[in-house]
Amino acid sequence: MPEKAIHRVGIGTDLHRMVPGRPLVLGHVEVPFDQGPAGHSDGDVVLHALIDALAGAAGLPDIGEMFPDSDPAYAGIDSGRLIEQVMQRVRALGFAPVNADVIIHAERPRLSPYKAAIRDEVARLLGTDPDRVSIKAKTHEGVDALGRGQAVACTAIVSLGRGQPVP
Ligand code: MG
Repeated sequence: MPEKAIHRVGIGTDLHRMVPGRPLVLGHVEVPFDQGPAGHSDGDVVLHALIDALAGAAGLPDIGEMFPDSDPAYAGIDSGRLIEQVMQRVRALGFAPVNADVIIHAERPRLSPYKAAIRDEVARLLGTDPDRVSIKAKTHEGVDALGRGQAVACTAIVSLGRGQPVP
Protein backbone atom coordinates (compact mmCIF):
# COMPACT_ATOMS: atom_id res chain seq x y z
CA MET A 1 0.00 0.00 0.00
CA PRO A 2 1.43 3.44 -0.86
CA GLU A 3 2.58 5.60 2.04
CA LYS A 4 -0.02 8.11 3.14
CA ALA A 5 0.84 11.57 1.83
CA ILE A 6 2.07 13.92 4.52
CA HIS A 7 2.61 17.63 4.41
CA ARG A 8 4.66 19.53 6.98
CA VAL A 9 5.69 23.12 7.60
CA GLY A 10 8.67 24.65 9.41
CA ILE A 11 9.64 28.19 10.38
CA GLY A 12 13.08 29.74 10.85
CA THR A 13 14.49 33.12 11.72
CA ASP A 14 17.99 34.57 11.83
CA LEU A 15 19.62 37.89 12.63
CA HIS A 16 23.20 39.12 12.26
CA ARG A 17 24.78 42.38 13.34
CA MET A 18 25.94 44.56 10.43
CA VAL A 19 29.57 45.63 10.48
CA PRO A 20 31.67 47.63 7.99
CA GLY A 21 33.73 45.84 5.38
CA ARG A 22 32.01 42.46 5.31
CA PRO A 23 30.34 41.14 2.15
CA LEU A 24 26.52 41.22 2.28
CA VAL A 25 25.36 37.79 1.10
CA LEU A 26 21.61 37.17 1.06
CA GLY A 27 20.24 33.90 -0.29
CA HIS A 28 23.67 33.05 -1.72
CA VAL A 29 23.67 36.30 -3.76
CA GLU A 30 26.23 39.01 -3.02
CA VAL A 31 24.53 42.41 -2.75
CA PRO A 32 26.86 45.42 -3.16
CA PHE A 33 26.98 47.38 0.12
CA ASP A 34 29.61 48.84 2.43
CA GLN A 35 28.53 46.67 5.36
CA GLY A 36 27.75 43.02 5.92
CA PRO A 37 26.82 40.58 8.65
CA ALA A 38 29.23 39.73 11.42
CA GLY A 39 29.33 36.01 11.99
CA HIS A 40 31.25 32.78 12.21
CA SER A 41 30.08 31.69 8.74
CA ASP A 42 29.28 34.05 5.85
CA GLY A 43 26.31 35.32 7.92
CA ASP A 44 23.75 34.61 5.18
CA VAL A 45 20.56 35.21 7.19
CA VAL A 46 18.33 33.96 4.34
CA LEU A 47 19.99 30.56 4.10
CA HIS A 48 20.27 30.27 7.89
CA ALA A 49 16.54 30.97 8.36
CA LEU A 50 15.72 28.52 5.56
CA ILE A 51 17.92 25.82 7.13
CA ASP A 52 15.99 26.13 10.40
CA ALA A 53 12.67 26.10 8.53
CA LEU A 54 13.71 22.95 6.63
CA ALA A 55 14.93 21.38 9.87
CA GLY A 56 11.64 22.21 11.59
CA ALA A 57 9.55 20.72 8.78
CA ALA A 58 11.68 17.58 8.43
CA GLY A 59 12.23 16.98 12.15
CA LEU A 60 15.99 17.56 12.01
CA PRO A 61 18.13 19.26 14.71
CA ASP A 62 18.39 23.06 14.49
CA ILE A 63 21.18 24.86 12.63
CA GLY A 64 23.25 25.41 15.77
CA GLU A 65 23.24 21.70 16.54
CA MET A 66 23.96 20.63 12.96
CA PHE A 67 26.72 23.21 12.40
CA PRO A 68 28.11 24.37 15.79
CA ASP A 69 29.81 27.78 15.62
CA SER A 70 32.45 26.39 18.00
CA ASP A 71 33.58 24.09 15.16
CA PRO A 72 36.42 25.68 13.14
CA ALA A 73 35.23 23.68 10.09
CA TYR A 74 32.41 26.21 9.71
CA ALA A 75 34.49 29.39 10.05
CA GLY A 76 33.74 31.63 7.06
CA ILE A 77 31.94 28.78 5.31
CA ASP A 78 29.72 29.39 2.29
CA SER A 79 26.23 28.75 3.69
CA GLY A 80 25.29 27.26 0.30
CA ARG A 81 27.36 24.23 1.35
CA LEU A 82 25.38 24.02 4.60
CA ILE A 83 21.93 24.13 2.99
CA GLU A 84 23.07 21.54 0.43
CA GLN A 85 23.91 19.16 3.30
CA VAL A 86 20.53 19.85 4.91
CA MET A 87 18.71 19.24 1.61
CA GLN A 88 20.49 15.88 1.31
CA ARG A 89 19.08 14.93 4.71
CA VAL A 90 15.62 16.29 3.78
CA ARG A 91 15.59 14.23 0.57
CA ALA A 92 16.90 11.13 2.38
CA LEU A 93 13.76 11.36 4.55
CA GLY A 94 11.66 11.34 1.37
CA PHE A 95 10.62 14.99 1.54
CA ALA A 96 10.49 17.48 -1.33
CA PRO A 97 9.83 21.22 -0.99
CA VAL A 98 6.30 22.39 -1.79
CA ASN A 99 7.11 26.07 -1.33
CA ALA A 100 9.26 28.51 0.62
CA ASP A 101 8.24 32.02 1.68
CA VAL A 102 10.98 34.40 2.84
CA ILE A 103 10.97 37.88 4.38
CA ILE A 104 14.28 39.78 4.55
CA HIS A 105 14.30 42.55 7.16
CA ALA A 106 16.86 45.17 6.10
CA GLU A 107 16.75 48.94 6.28
CA ARG A 108 19.45 49.31 3.65
CA PRO A 109 20.34 48.69 0.87
CA ARG A 110 17.18 48.55 -1.25
CA LEU A 111 16.76 44.90 -2.16
CA SER A 112 14.16 45.05 -4.94
CA PRO A 113 16.80 44.82 -7.72
CA TYR A 114 18.13 41.57 -6.18
CA LYS A 115 14.93 39.73 -5.23
CA ALA A 116 14.63 37.79 -8.51
CA ALA A 117 18.27 36.62 -8.35
CA ILE A 118 17.82 35.56 -4.71
CA ARG A 119 14.59 33.69 -5.58
CA ASP A 120 16.32 31.82 -8.44
CA GLU A 121 19.32 30.90 -6.30
CA VAL A 122 17.20 29.75 -3.34
CA ALA A 123 15.10 27.64 -5.73
CA ARG A 124 18.25 26.07 -7.16
CA LEU A 125 19.59 25.25 -3.68
CA LEU A 126 16.22 23.75 -2.64
CA GLY A 127 16.00 21.79 -5.90
CA THR A 128 12.66 23.31 -6.76
CA ASP A 129 11.14 25.74 -9.26
CA PRO A 130 11.49 29.51 -8.79
CA ASP A 131 7.68 29.86 -8.78
CA ARG A 132 7.65 27.88 -5.51
CA VAL A 133 9.88 30.47 -3.80
CA SER A 134 8.80 33.93 -2.68
CA ILE A 135 11.30 36.58 -1.55
CA LYS A 136 9.99 39.70 0.14
CA ALA A 137 11.99 42.57 1.56
CA LYS A 138 10.85 44.90 4.32
CA THR A 139 12.35 47.88 6.08
CA HIS A 140 11.59 48.57 9.73
CA GLU A 141 10.69 52.23 9.11
CA GLY A 142 13.67 53.49 11.09
CA VAL A 143 12.36 51.80 14.24
CA ASP A 144 14.43 49.41 16.41
CA ALA A 145 17.91 48.02 15.76
CA LEU A 146 16.88 46.67 12.34
CA GLY A 147 15.38 50.04 11.45
CA ARG A 148 18.64 51.75 12.42
CA GLY A 149 20.50 49.37 10.11
CA GLN A 150 22.42 47.77 12.98
CA ALA A 151 21.39 44.28 11.88
CA VAL A 152 19.90 42.30 9.02
CA ALA A 153 17.38 39.54 9.68
CA CYS A 154 15.22 36.98 7.94
CA THR A 155 12.01 35.07 8.60
CA ALA A 156 11.33 31.98 6.47
CA ILE A 157 8.66 29.34 6.25
CA VAL A 158 8.99 26.14 4.23
CA SER A 159 6.50 23.42 3.46
CA LEU A 160 7.59 19.89 2.56
CA GLY A 161 5.61 17.02 1.06
CA ARG A 162 6.21 13.28 1.19
CA GLY A 163 4.47 10.18 -0.04
CA GLN A 164 2.80 11.58 -3.13
CA PRO A 165 4.02 13.66 -6.03
CA VAL A 166 4.30 17.21 -4.75
CA PRO A 167 1.16 18.99 -6.04
MG1 MG B 1 23.06 32.97 11.19
